[in-house]
Amino acid sequence: MRYIAEAVERGHISGDGHYTKLCHALLEREAGANKVLLTTSCTHALEMSALLLGIQPGDEVICPSFTFVSTINAFVLRGARPVFVDARADTFNLDESSLEAAITPRTKAILLVHYGGVACNMDVIVPIAARHGIPLVEDNAHGLFARYKGQRLGTFGVMATQSFHETKNFHCGEGGALLINDMQYAERAEIIREKGTNRSRFFRGQVDKYTWVDVGSSYLPSEILAAFLYAQLESRDEIQGKRQRIWQRYHDGLSAWADRYDVQLQAVPANCEQAYHVFALVMPSLETRQRLIAHLKAQGILSVFHYLPLHLSDMGRQYGGQPGDCPVTERLGDCLLRLPFYNDLSAADQDAVIAAMESFDGWM
Ligand SMILES: *Cc1c(COP(=O)(O)O)cnc(C)c1O
Repeated sequence: MRYIAEAVERGHISGDGHYTKLCHALLEREAGANKVLLTTSCTHALEMSALLLGIQPGDEVICPSFTFVSTINAFVLRGARPVFVDARADTFNLDESSLEAAITPRTKAILLVHYGGVACNMDVIVPIAARHGIPLVEDNAHGLFARYKGQRLGTFGVMATQSFHETKNFHCGEGGALLINDMQYAERAEIIREKGTNRSRFFRGQVDKYTWVDVGSSYLPSEILAAFLYAQLESRDEIQGKRQRIWQRYHDGLSAWADRYDVQLQAVPANCEQAYHVFALVMPSLETRQRLIAHLKAQGILSVFHYLPLHLSDMGRQYGGQPGDCPVTERLGDCLLRLPFYNDLSAADQDAVIAAMESFDGWM
């Protein structure tokens, strides 16, 4: 509230002021990207990446089917055709063993999502993208500050996107960021974000007037949002510490139970420092998942499923998606469940959730 009041008192609450600059500097330092631009959402950062990569009608873009609609919609908006790849059964991330077979001469980008902030298998994916000369974009909405073999997620692709939507670990209600690693995209990113003008260069004194130079839109968040976000980012260790404790308590409390009933918890490979964005488990069947949701609901506990397979959505079917194309994703759509997970979830409430899970007897 203090930062928001200060932003207002500064007299300019449009974008790219004091707090936006503080957020950019903090994210460049702590997330390890060469250049960061706050945006109005992760969806808009994805739209920027599709513009920056020059996606045209008829281009193909590879992406997981197990993701949020924005990952691919931003590219479909430019006329791209989605090519969906299945998920791994253990981490729920894009199955790297199916990646190469999805590449064609029309492939213009590979999109990745690090589900729950657990990294994809970058040791395999990065060389495949490099060998084919296809730019990699990380939709890192779940994975800010997480690492793979010590390297920050969001720094493997030519660019990456973050979400600061209220449902994410750090937020400002609605917001996002574009992280640019390959600096050949940096100047054009500023222009696209500023309605296709070179206004950013004008403010830096590099040109004496600004003008329309390219396509673009308005992707800058207000200083009020940046002020809120800066406080969140400053509190990153406290927030992540809480989330780590919550994740660990579920994991410790439910591992034996999961083994006993053939329930699968999301795997976190040893080389991943994850972001603790979700606690997800896979029930043995759609029926048991639905019964567990109802059982928890009867005790006042809200549990939720996650992504419905994009290849089977109305839009996905228009691009030829068929049942059976991505069997692991279809199973995750049917069987995956997320437990209550928010920063101030108390240990006592978590123990009540765990006890409610243990009392579930709807297996048959
Ligand atoms: C939340 C989310 C988005 C969209 O974020 P917005 O900031 O709401 O646009 C995109 N991709 C993934 C993987 C997400 O989880």
